[in-house]
Amino acid sequence: MSATLPCALSGHMDHSPSSWPGTGLLRSLRPWNPGWCRRGLRFWLAGNLLVMLCYLALGWAVGRFFASFGLFPAPIWLPAGLAAAAAMAGGWRLLPGIFLGSFLVNALAYQAGAGLSAVISLGNALGPLAGMVLTRHFRPASGLFTRFQGVVAFLAGCVLLHAFVTASCGTFGLWWLEGVPPAALPAHWSSWLLCDAGGTFYFAPSLILWLGLERTPAGRGTRLPLLDGAVWLGTALLAALVFSIRLPPGLPSAQLIFLLAVPLSWIALRISLRAAYTLLTLLCIIASAGTVSGYGPFQSGGVANPMQSVGMLIVLCAMNILTLLALVSERREAEAALADANRLLEWRVAERTAELKRQAETDALTGIANRRSFMNQAEILLRREAEAGRPCALLAFDLDHFKSINDRAGHAAGDAVLRLTAERCTQALRQADLFGRLGGEEFAILLPATSAEEAHAVAERLRAALATIILPLEGLGSRLSASFGIATMPPGGLPLETLLHRADGALYQAKGSGRDRICAAG
Ligand code: GH3
Ligand code: MG
Ligand code: MG
Repeated sequence: MSATLPCALSGHMDHSPSSWPGTGLLRSLRPWNPGWCRRGLRFWLAGNLLVMLCYLALGWAVGRFFASFGLFPAPIWLPAGLAAAAAMAGGWRLLPGIFLGSFLVNALAYQAGAGLSAVISLGNALGPLAGMVLTRHFRPASGLFTRFQGVVAFLAGCVLLHAFVTASCGTFGLWWLEGVPPAALPAHWSSWLLCDAGGTFYFAPSLILWLGLERTPAGRGTRLPLLDGAVWLGTALLAALVFSIRLPPGLPSAQLIFLLAVPLSWIALRISLRAAYTLLTLLCIIASAGTVSGYGPFQSGGVANPMQSVGMLIVLCAMNILTLLALVSERREAEAALADANRLLEWRVAERTAELKRQAETDALTGIANRRSFMNQAEILLRREAEAGRPCALLAFDLDHFKSINDRAGHAAGDAVLRLTAERCTQALRQADLFGRLGGEEFAILLPATSAEEAHAVAERLRAALATIILPLEGLGSRLSASFGIATMPPGGLPLETLLHRADGALYQAKGSGRDRICAAG
């Protein structure tokens, strides 16, 4: 046995079908939890020993219990549920444990011959494996109990195919080794099938969910845990009460007991499938023990086979909560996916809107504020400075002889000069200064908390910064220059349009007096 082969219990789950080698049903032969397989031989031995002991103890207890009421073989074989869960957990790697547990319980507790015990146990081990393969093959990726398809897969594989194989092997053993006449075989086969299917139904989903082998479909998230706990306990107590008294004949009690399905569904929807199925397993035990002891509603004259009625109650309740929660889970997951898609859409719309806003406010060529954005922001800034009683200056500048740059070096070169102008000025300005391109080669800067002298100094700084740009004019090799106009806000404030008009006037004054200079509005 290779050290990497054994695979027993683990919390790690890799249910992705894409990670299984092989194709079709064969793929399903791999255990659910590859993480276990790396844990070594000792872990595998411990897993099988645990399964064997649990099977032996449970089988012995169930057999003894029913035998004490004169029922042999037991009408419900709970170890079948244990075997189904073990096969779901470890696949073929836990088969030795199931086989040995079954062999020992048949040979030691029920004194079956070694041959018959071996044949029965072979069926008891191969049945769960075959059932698991079928169930896993049709299992939805989101989880066995989260889709109706998964519930059907569980029924078809873990319950029915499993029981079919165990019943067939067992009946074959009775005919071959015990000489049971062929005419009696169908009765043996059908009761064997019901016994194992019932045992799986009673037990396996609870175990599968508690071992974490399958995801329990999400409940609503319980806000009143006390109420939920009270309903859970109340239902269990009601079942215990109903199955521990002798009801007077003639009451429609057998039908009324099916009302237990209502709190069960309530618990499944409000708490979880695990909580509901655990309660159902408890109800199974209570109902089976009460009925077999001669108590409860299934004793009244109208019920021909009390234990069969218990089975029906359990199967109906189980199917009810399994399908109900699978359908609800499908719906909830679809709603969650829709909510996710909506959130993504909202996020994309918000992102696109922000991008459009940014584009609408930015000058595409230079990346600084365009005229509209400059005017809007300047309006707010100017008002704020006027209210605070701080001085404020507006600086407008226009590049000198820009047309000749375009004409002689080309439009692209003119664009490059405009971009460089914006870049150099941005570097020379403060974070708080508002810089925008008013159009063409005309720019404006609003300087908050700045006096006329300081604004002049800023303009000088900018003039020097622009002078570092060498113009791409062949033969001339001249540097970029601009004419500046400064307007300052008087203490009482001034509308932006007026301030801009003044700055423009000063700018044209600078142009008129020879360019490459700074003029302030009077
Ligand atoms: P002045 O010294 O009197 O300001 O002369 P000027 O040549 O700079 O002034 P004028 O207004 O006559 O020329 C501005 C030129 O700027 C005209 C226009 O073709 C050009 N222009 C406007 N916007 C752009 C632009 O985005 N890119 C380029 N390359 N040129 C532009
Ligand atoms: Mg110009
Ligand atoms: Mg101009």
